[in-house]
Amino acid sequence: TDRLVSSARKDVDAFEATIRPQSLDEFIGQEQARANLRIFITAARGRGDALDHVLFAGPPGLGKTTLAQIMAKELGVGFRATSGPVISKAGDLAALLTNLEERDVLFIDEIHRLNPAVEEILYPAMEDFQLDLMIGEGPAARSVRIDLPKFTLVGATTRAGLLTNPLRDRFGIPVRLNFYSVPELEQVVSRGARVLGANMSSDGAREIAKRSRGTPRIAGRLLRRVRDFAAVDGAVVVNAAVADKALKMLEVDAEGLDALDHRYLGCILNNYEGGPVGIETLAAALSEPRDALEEIVEPFLLQQGFISRTPRGRVLTLKTYRHLGVSGPARTTT
Ligand code: ADP
Repeated sequence: TDRLVSSARKDVDAFEATIRPQSLDEFIGQEQARANLRIFITAARGRGDALDHVLFAGPPGLGKTTLAQIMAKELGVGFRATSGPVISKAGDLAALLTNLEERDVLFIDEIHRLNPAVEEILYPAMEDFQLDLMIGEGPAARSVRIDLPKFTLVGATTRAGLLTNPLRDRFGIPVRLNFYSVPELEQVVSRGARVLGANMSSDGAREIAKRSRGTPRIAGRLLRRVRDFAAVDGAVVVNAAVADKALKMLEVDAEGLDALDHRYLGCILNNYEGGPVGIETLAAALSEPRDALEEIVEPFLLQQGFISRTPRGRVLTLKTYRHLGVSGPARTTT
């Protein structure tokens, strides 16, 4: 999906890095998660011990990587980052683990996509800080056990449901991240505008916040697009009118739904009479990978009540008919 305001991480850039909050205090929103982490971090520091393993679950762009980096900082330990699909062989993981220092944070993004052979190695590493490796092949093969430093694994996943049970059970601290409220995103936008040196009014920040799909990464991207648009347009202050004009050009509607959301909803409406329609069918009709729909399109639409999930598939809600300005389903309920 080449989504304009994609929340996918592919192109992490300098701007995202510069507006990244550096401490738990600077991190906006996610009050519950932050409060819990603060307690666990303080306790681990007090004991001089490694923090228990942490699993962050939630849609892309909500701050999982940012929080992992903040944790390492607040713990005063080193930070190493990798991702599930990148670790292809057991040996790759072994190399990472044996290079850790005592109490380091190892961040594994997309941890639900670890290959099973690699995952097997991770269990004893997480539980007993030991590595069981097979050396050699065939009858001469033997297993060696290596002691590892006590480290903290921070896993991130957009699909908690796809984690195997043994892996999920080894995380002592599961943390669920939720979509952000408009006032929270307003703070993210204002902060980003300051970093960019953009002259933004508070109604301008609010307009962008309202249309960011509850996601700080999208708020940051829209902010930059709007800023560029305003510069070309010769606007001195980025206010709500300027933001609205720019966002319309970017095909982001008043609720923050973008072109892909509209294709998705339009497909259910026009091809399947408002649903129910199964996810595989939809993915094929839209020529989009099923994973992408489930990870980056549907969570926000579900959370906002634009679709609902039934055993027979996805269904549009009344809110969606109203939003799209069409009349509701002509079906009679029996
Ligand atoms: P994830 O790992 O969940 O995909 P990231 O941690 O990479 O998300 O966050 C995406 C971007 O959004 C980061 O560059 C960061 O600047 C910004 N961001 C995320 N959460 C917050 C927050 N709570 N406050 C301010 N900025 C945030």
